[in-house]
Amino acid sequence: MTLYDYKCDGCGVRFEKDHPMSAPPVRICPECGAEKVRKILSTGGVQIGGSHSAAPPPSPCGGGGCGGGMCNMA
Ligand SMILES: [Zn+2]
Repeated sequence: MTLYDYKCDGCGVRFEKDHPMSAPPVRICPECGAEKVRKILSTGGVQIGGSHSAAPPPSPCGGGGCGGGMCNMA
């Protein structure tokens, strides 16, 4: 599901709706019923694809420099 921002040019109401990209966009304003709703760029909240795991925290060894357990950990 992707969150979309819509704005009605009829009454000026702004609302959000989440629906799959394959679904048709909202055309009718839920407030005034006018067919003047247009999609505006969302300022955030758009989720594309799955969640990528964050990069692992930096190891005290600096990574790869002490594979043999010889790292001096202060
Ligand atoms: Zn409206």
